[in-house]
Amino acid sequence: MSQDPSLALASADPFLLLVVEAQLGGALDLVDGAWEAAQKPDRKVEDIAPDIRAQAIARLEAHLAHGARPLALDPETLARLVQFCVGEAVGADYVAMLLEEAGVVVRALDTAPPVVPASGDALPEVAITGAGLSGIATAVYLKRAGIPFTIYEQSESFGGTWYDNRYPGCGVDTTSHFYAYSFAINPAWPRYFSKQGEMLAYIEDCVRRFELADHFRFGTTVKAARFDAVAGRWRLTLASKAGGETEAEAQVLVSAVGQLNVPSTPAIAGIESFAGPVVHTARWTPGIEYAGKRVALIGTGASGVQVGPTMAKDAARLTVFQRSPQWLSHRPNYHLPVSQHERWQLSDIPGFVNWHRLLTIWRFADTLYLALLKGENGAASEANAKLHKQWSAYIEEKMASRPDLLPKVMPDYPPLTKRAPVDFGWFDMLLADNVELVTQRVARIEPDAVVAADGSRYPADLIVLATGFKATRMLHTIEIVGRDGQQLDAVWEGDDPRAFLGMSVPGFPNFFIMYGPNTNLGHGGNLIFQGECQARYIAQAVRHLAETGTRSLDVRDAVFEAYNREVDAQLDTMVWSTPGVDNWFKNSKGRVVTNSPWRVVDYWARTRRFEPGDYRAD
Ligand code: NAP
Repeated sequence: MSQDPSLALASADPFLLLVVEAQLGGALDLVDGAWEAAQKPDRKVEDIAPDIRAQAIARLEAHLAHGARPLALDPETLARLVQFCVGEAVGADYVAMLLEEAGVVVRALDTAPPVVPASGDALPEVAITGAGLSGIATAVYLKRAGIPFTIYEQSESFGGTWYDNRYPGCGVDTTSHFYAYSFAINPAWPRYFSKQGEMLAYIEDCVRRFELADHFRFGTTVKAARFDAVAGRWRLTLASKAGGETEAEAQVLVSAVGQLNVPSTPAIAGIESFAGPVVHTARWTPGIEYAGKRVALIGTGASGVQVGPTMAKDAARLTVFQRSPQWLSHRPNYHLPVSQHERWQLSDIPGFVNWHRLLTIWRFADTLYLALLKGENGAASEANAKLHKQWSAYIEEKMASRPDLLPKVMPDYPPLTKRAPVDFGWFDMLLADNVELVTQRVARIEPDAVVAADGSRYPADLIVLATGFKATRMLHTIEIVGRDGQQLDAVWEGDDPRAFLGMSVPGFPNFFIMYGPNTNLGHGGNLIFQGECQARYIAQAVRHLAETGTRSLDVRDAVFEAYNREVDAQLDTMVWSTPGVDNWFKNSKGRVVTNSPWRVVDYWARTRRFEPGDYRAD
């Protein structure tokens, strides 16, 4: 990248520069000199003495001129650098996670040689259903282990949620420098929060880089999977998009279809009579026109708050049907491109991208976790109340010119009881002349209008359903039959899924679920991170099968039950179960089945090492 290095260095975060310099040069004298400044609660760039900053830049220029590479430092020095980088004391568990996930230190699994099978045994083959981010993460780890695998994908290409969701405005709402694989850290994100196309391009790059192309079977839906206990293998029934069914088999089955792959379409009276297109956000196709049209948007969750402001710019009229108002967090850099200087820093200063990621993970992993916990006697906790105050003030400020709208848009439930998306421009959109907010329930749909419960008619040419997914009915589209003929859907009683670590269910040997029960995040982190934790765990389990010649692994009932008792006990302390609040995390019995009760670092630690003793081996 053509840049003036001195300008780019001068504009860099000096705390990061000091850490990176220390790792390149091996001396911590400048870090020590700036220690107090770094540990100030609201530290500022100016807190670092100008001479220390100048020395750091001069040394960095020299390191760059000599082609210096980050040094392998001892654990105590690294822990000290972590604390300096994030500006506060960090627990030992967190230090290990941050260093590995940011790629400052290399994991043993990342450099482990391919598996050597137990003598005379064939390597176990793995069938993965779903070519989204989780499936691809598992594929990368299996490829490194030399394990044969096939990824079955019902769509015509890879990308999963980023392939399916193409609605206008679609993008991430977790910062991109964290929302990426730790094994494919990207210094070149064009913006802080990527758009759908940029995510697909990143995934495409990973597929190319890790040579996965030959492993996909697109247009192929896994309809059924039955465990053959005699052979110790999964028998799959595959349906091809072109028509017809075929059979396949594998020793290990990995579900990577996730929780958010089956759209939920509300049964609104008369919906089939609508004369124009009715499209769910997850089934948007490029031909759908909204410019100059009267658009009705039903649903104001994470998808709705992105598609609404994008369509409002060009639609003749946008009528928003809101069932519940949303808490939205505010990120000042949400729509900003990464500056050229910062892209140079990330790409051209060795180690900078890693420490930048480490700081980003620290800020976005678990900082909101305390706000998820209930306070005394079920009241809001102090952290939740603080968030409530901040987020209400933001809404009040946004709605200052329309106090009449304030009661309609101010949520009456605690923050984080539903997933809180980032404000894409939602509140500004509501102020536009061509936008109307309707808080009446949708009563019915007529050929040319949506009719609200009070009888008001809202003429429309296009209806956009941003109404979410059948998240609690996990895996219900696939008939999965276990060791003794039991159906997974029946074991889970439809919408009460449980698994050990969200991945393993007793009676379903050699079957691992990614983004399964109680693994969704409600406060921070991201699903690539969760997916990678699961991918590494699964890869270790498959390595174990291969190296020991074990035929199958079935999670022990006691292990599964103890884990789920812990999950339920922790969930009881969390705000999602607040009575009277609807969210997509709870099942028909009111149990939270989608979300993880753990801090990100705790799930990371629990999944870090596959423990064979947790499973019955055959
Ligand atoms: P969602 O969060 O479940 O939101 C669905 C919306 O539709 C809610 O506003 C809901 O109202 C409303 N709704 C549902 N049924 C309705 C009906 N019959 N009549 C009127 N309104 C109805 O779905 P989503 O927005 O697609 O998001 C789902 C998840 O996908 C997110 O939570 C997130 O995990 C992920 N996502 C992420 C991003 C991202 O930027 N990273 C973007 C999109 C989605 P109530 O609130 O009253 O239930």
